[in-house]
Parts: sequence; structure tokens; C-alpha cells
Amino acid sequence: MSPRASGPSRQKLAAERRRRRAKIEVILDRLGERYDHPRWSTPRLDPTAELVLTILSQNTSDTNSARAFDLLRAAYPTWDAVLAADTAELADVIRPGGLANVKAPRIQAVLAEVRDGTAGTPFDLSFLAALPLEEAKAWLVDLPGIGPKTAAIVLLFAFGRPALPVDTHVFRVATRLGLLPPKTDVVRSHGILEGSLEPDEVYAFHVELIRHGREVCHAQRPACELCPLTDICTYYREVVSRAPRPSVRRAIGAEPTDPEAWREKLLHGALPPE
Ligand code: SF4
Repeated sequence: MSPRASGPSRQKLAAERRRRRAKIEVILDRLGERYDHPRWSTPRLDPTAELVLTILSQNTSDTNSARAFDLLRAAYPTWDAVLAADTAELADVIRPGGLANVKAPRIQAVLAEVRDGTAGTPFDLSFLAALPLEEAKAWLVDLPGIGPKTAAIVLLFAFGRPALPVDTHVFRVATRLGLLPPKTDVVRSHGILEGSLEPDEVYAFHVELIRHGREVCHAQRPACELCPLTDICTYYREVVSRAPRPSVRRAIGAEPTDPEAWREKLLHGALPPE
């Protein structure tokens, strides 16, 4: 057998997986208690509507995207009508959702692909329920401007399928808890986290980490004193409970001439912008 060219050994990867799994069980248990054990029950929208809402939700709040979605549905009775609309007019309709000049052509491009890909039953994405999960993801990710997060949102919320969307809250909380190897980017984090969850844990994990990110583990100054996970949290151990270890200090560089900025760098160094 040839030696591994580089990277961690199999034993090390297996140990990491076991450690991640043990943490996830604690997280699901304690955050489930706090956030009432969320469970998926029924679709909140049909899959095509979920897809359009998710595009509208990019880089804006839930309130703004919901408003833009309601305005879009009120202005255009069918998806064909959205497709036929003048793009500038569509952008005006969805303006409250932000980035309207980007989102209007993106929605039309996605709807055109969906219509062409669902000939016979136009705009009906229900066939995704029967595809193997990875094929369903691949079909959605092939649509213009659709990444793994949006694909997972559609599959999770419209079908109850075990695809994990990693949004900014899930990524931040998972990173701080030490569930991801150093320098993992958000795209890769989908596979690592989803692969560490049982199918019936995916929805609860997603909802619980989002709520925890919004209510406790804030991007700026996490309220660790209110958190039930301090004993398993890497960030709490490395940053909050004591001065960082020398290896961590070396990794983030300069001495803390500005302690607040230094702490933020330590916290956000591996994270993408919000
Ligand atoms: S201990 Fe602090 S940093 Fe860690 S998950 Fe809880 S709130 Fe976030």
C-alpha cells in the first residue's frame, strides 16, 4: 500500500469524526432543550416558491425578503408572468428585498431553467423528492446562481429531506464550537457537518444553530454567560475563559495593542464577512 501523499492519517480523521459526533450529540441534546426540539412537519411553501424566496433572502433580513416575496406574488399571478415581466419592472416590485437589480434577472434566469427542466409539468419540482439526495442537490446547484446553501434550503424546507443549509449563523456557531477543521470554508462545511448528522437530526441542528447564533452566539460579542455549551466550545476555551495559547497567539499575529480588535480578529479570522 502506498503511503498517503499528504494530509492527516486515516486514524486521525476517524478520531476527528468521533470527536465531532460526540460534540454534536451534546449540542443537539442541550440546544434541543433550549429551543423546544424543532421538527420539520410540513412544507412552508411549494419548492419553486421556496427557491424564489431563498433568492430574495440573499443578503437581507427575513422580514425584507418576505415582504419582497409577497409583493412579487401579488404583482404576478403565475411564474410564467414573472418570466414574461420586464426585468426592470420586476426589480422595482422586489426592491424592498435589496439587491433588486441582481435578484430580478437571477430569478428570471432560474425560473427559465426550471420551466425548461420540468417540461410537461412546468415549474413542478416535486420530482426532486424521488431523486437520490446528491442528485437532487446537483440538479438545483446546476441552476444559475444557486449554491449548496440554497439547494439545501429547498430540499430541507420544501421536502423535509436531510440536506443541511449552512448559513452565516450555522457556520459561525459550528466554527466556534470546533466542529470544523481549521480554515474550512463555508462550501466545504456543508459536507462535513451534514455527513456528521443522522438524517433525522439535520432539521433540528439547522434550526437550533440558527436560533443560537441569533439569540446567544452573536457575531459580535457572543453571550457565553447564557450558553449551555461552554464546556465543549473551542472558542470559549481558547478565547473567553483564558488568554489564548501561544500557538493561537502566533497564528493570529500581532500583540494586542487594541485588545478589542485583536479579540475580534481571533474570533472572525476564519470566517467570511457577514
Ligand atoms: S460558549 Fe460562547 S462562543 Fe461558544 S457557542 Fe456558546 S455563545 Fe458561542
